[in-house]
Amino acid sequence: MDIGYTKPMSKEETNFDFSTEPEIVTEVSSLQELLDRATGRIYRAEQPQEDAGLVERPPFPFLALVSQKEMKLALLLSLVNPNLGGVLLIGPRGTGKTTAVRGLVDLLPHVKRSLCHYGCLEDDIETSGIDAVCPDCAQKYGQGEALSELEKVRLVELPLNARLEDVVGGLDPQAEVSERMRLKRGILSHADRNLLYVDEVNMLSDQVVDAILDAAAQGQFTVRRGAMSATYRSDFALIGSMNPEEGHLRPQIMDRFGLRVIVRGLETKAERLEAYQRTRAYKVNPRGFGEQFMGDTQALREEIQLSRDNLQEVKLPEKIAHAGLELIEKLKIDSLRAEITLFEAARAYAAADARLEVTFQDLRTVAPLALRLRRSQFMADYLSDQVEESRELGNVLDEIIP
Ligand SMILES: [Zn+2]
Repeated sequence: MDIGYTKPMSKEETNFDFSTEPEIVTEVSSLQELLDRATGRIYRAEQPQEDAGLVERPPFPFLALVSQKEMKLALLLSLVNPNLGGVLLIGPRGTGKTTAVRGLVDLLPHVKRSLCHYGCLEDDIETSGIDAVCPDCAQKYGQGEALSELEKVRLVELPLNARLEDVVGGLDPQAEVSERMRLKRGILSHADRNLLYVDEVNMLSDQVVDAILDAAAQGQFTVRRGAMSATYRSDFALIGSMNPEEGHLRPQIMDRFGLRVIVRGLETKAERLEAYQRTRAYKVNPRGFGEQFMGDTQALREEIQLSRDNLQEVKLPEKIAHAGLELIEKLKIDSLRAEITLFEAARAYAAADARLEVTFQDLRTVAPLALRLRRSQFMADYLSDQVEESRELGNVLDEIIP
């Protein structure tokens, strides 16, 4: 199948010679391969044209981020399997966390978006009956009119000063239609079927973070104000980020995130130079730059959709589950979320690799993401302990997984 990939150059060829035409490669067999390919590729950044009249900048393509493979993998796994419990990106400013998250919107399929202020959808009627939507929508539905349209997934970013009321919703002083309709939707409800990005999650109140994590875990949440209550869907991929220099995250909150990534700056001069070239090319001509990644981005979007569709079928063999539990026991991790995240991440990884059974290697690949920073003694000064923990994780992995 020719899906229009251009081949990355090998390491030996990466001498920043932008004069070589990229070759066409015929197929890609897994998400990981695609990721490696786009990550290792050198892009031609010569003489970008001025992009006149562009009102809105397209996001910097996810696949155009140099290196940061672990961050990319964690984010993609969370798109494949929303039951992971989200992703927490930990690292200083300027390491591409926000850029990576914003680039994800191009990787999700289109979703149904309500045309109504109250967010009514056809699905509500199909699952809970006609009373689940507002009177206007009930009438429209009766007349065979659409309540929604297909739209691109949005990135909902939680403002740093968000109050609990903004997040879950509250009384709507303007609506006087009916008792039921006097509740105003909060940010969580707008995040439904979208991506929710909580930057500087360590700066938010525990109450707000708890509400977000509850909604993410359950896929819905209920707001009660006096005699009124409403339940909203909140099926979203949750991504949090924090700069550990600006304050800690309580262990209980930290534990509720599924995958954890320690994001560092780029390590080699070649990577830094490549990142600079790409950033420059994007700044001068965001659309033109994005076009270079369009083929890969579309292929990745299809991979993710396929992986999501296959996820239900992916089995976790008993011997692998046992190895995972032994790993957690050996590392003295108490949290029950450890195995949920570990196994769900391994299933997502297998699905992304078009397999229907989790292997030891899948477990090994996702274990650092799922298990790091789970033990309370690591919380206080986790960054200094990080190196030691990684080494230990590696050793235990060597011991348990063949
Ligand atoms: Zn409605």
